[in-house]
Amino acid sequence: MPELPEVETTRAGIRPYIKGKTLTSFHVRQKLLRWPVELPNTIKGKSVDEVERRGKYILLRMASGCLIIHLGMSGSLRIVQGSAAVSQHDHLDLTFDGLSLRLNDPRRFGSVHFHKGIPETHWLLHKLGPEPLGEEFSEDYLFRQSRRKRVSVKSFLMDSSVVVGVGNIYATEALFSARIRPTVRAGNLSRKACGNLVSETKRILQAAIKLGGTTLRDYVGAGGKPGYFTQSLNAYGREGRPCRVCGDVLQRIILSQRSTVFCGTCQVRFGWS
Ligand SMILES: [Zn+2]
Repeated sequence: MPELPEVETTRAGIRPYIKGKTLTSFHVRQKLLRWPVELPNTIKGKSVDEVERRGKYILLRMASGCLIIHLGMSGSLRIVQGSAAVSQHDHLDLTFDGLSLRLNDPRRFGSVHFHKGIPETHWLLHKLGPEPLGEEFSEDYLFRQSRRKRVSVKSFLMDSSVVVGVGNIYATEALFSARIRPTVRAGNLSRKACGNLVSETKRILQAAIKLGGTTLRDYVGAGGKPGYFTQSLNAYGREGRPCRVCGDVLQRIILSQRSTVFCGTCQVRFGWS
């Protein structure tokens, strides 16, 4: 599943090809994605002023509004020549002066919306919490938000109204690095633990984005799924294997229906003082 670093890598990868370009046409081959794709003809002839990201949404800002793209579970975007052969699951083309931005999504949990006005007012975006890499996501913020919350710290960190774009992989890794057990109640975290968790979340996401930038596949032309990469992970997917810090066997539990891996020795049960 594309997580925030993959989405950011995708945004940076497609931006040079479509920023400032005029959308000449679009072609919806499969309308039934997570929500029906309904694009107005009035967006034709408009140019893309900027390619931005909010959480896991890619935003194509235009003078008349904004295209909001989500990659869902299995979506990917690439730049193709306008005449490039269409593959299975290529559901949408947005064409700019001979080049097309093409959405492929086998499982069809992705989405594409056009929204008049600023994207922040769209119903998918208006309740989103701060960006994890922004200044607003701080020790003080996480400490304040977590007070009296009985939910586990892992579920709390994955709640997009608390902070956007921290999925299962990066929540698992950030908690491992911050040495906090995923089952600890959010409200029990000390201020210091909140600070550690914030800084580890930022560090891990930044490292993944940097890696995405260096391993970024070719966004132009055919072949392969672009922009996905595997980071060296310390906890996620390593259940039953030795902890890289202490050597104990990593454990796996299900928390809020999500697979969760942690080290019972390194990751403490309490929120520290
Ligand atoms: Zn350990």
